[in-house]
Amino acid sequence: MIELSLSVFLIALLGYLLLTLFPFFLLAKLNLFLSDRININEPIVNLKNLRHDIKGTINTFLVVAVFSILLSVQIELGLSNLGFGEISSLTWFFISTAGIIILHDAYFFVTHLLMHKVPSLYKYHLYHHKSVSPTPFSVFSFHPVEAIIHFIFFNIIALLPVHFGVLILFYAWMLVCNTIGHLNLDFYPEVIFKSKWTKWWNSPTHHYLHHQYFNCNYSIYYNHWDKWFKTNHSENLKVFFQIKNRANLSKQLHATELKSAPPAPWKVPRQDENVMLKLVNRSISQPGHLPAEFQ
Ligand SMILES: [Zn+2]
Ligand SMILES: [Zn+2]
Repeated sequence: MIELSLSVFLIALLGYLLLTLFPFFLLAKLNLFLSDRININEPIVNLKNLRHDIKGTINTFLVVAVFSILLSVQIELGLSNLGFGEISSLTWFFISTAGIIILHDAYFFVTHLLMHKVPSLYKYHLYHHKSVSPTPFSVFSFHPVEAIIHFIFFNIIALLPVHFGVLILFYAWMLVCNTIGHLNLDFYPEVIFKSKWTKWWNSPTHHYLHHQYFNCNYSIYYNHWDKWFKTNHSENLKVFFQIKNRANLSKQLHATELKSAPPAPWKVPRQDENVMLKLVNRSISQPGHLPAEFQ
């Protein structure tokens, strides 16, 4: 039992290091955060933000540790239908992964919306929103209550007859999508949002705008939930195409010309970080009262 709990915890930790922090350092090393071609806005990486995010991530992994133990207890008590043996059908393996992603898409939207609309939950969710300009360090930066809401999903899924590998694959998917959403980079090609077959996807700009404006863009992978609930930011696509236009202009100019060129014609307007934090703090000190700016 201890072995399984430890393995589950280590898989969660390793996944986070490999799929969230490692790509962030790699992209920073490649100077991609300075590139006008894909950058939404320069991420603010300072010690204060970093300390906040690291503390939130430790909260989350403490919760993950508890849920890893709970998973073993669940299995021991026969309250789980997880398969650990050989994968009998690859088709079923991928179909069940897709099913869990669709299920999580709904679970995330509903819980995220509730965390914004129910004041007693909102005060916990504001921990994540203190990262006004998020980085991948913010991906798991949660108050423990929010971490419980997110990670109990895995224990719920363990009730279903799916292979343990499905949980790992889904976790990897969730990490990659979350990391992309907190990168401040939008490298998605324009064609995605020009085609009716692919425009139901969320671009990285989508979650960036959620961190900027709070009251829009609650969905995680696909856009239909925000569409159905009319919670999309009205300028999601406009902002996305403006970033792409800036990228196209930047591509046309040679590096030397770029130096003497006027500043980028358009930058995503960033809310003033201090003003935003003041609003967040006011909201924490007056639970139950959402300032007009958040409505
Ligand atoms: Zn976020
Ligand atoms: Zn939120």
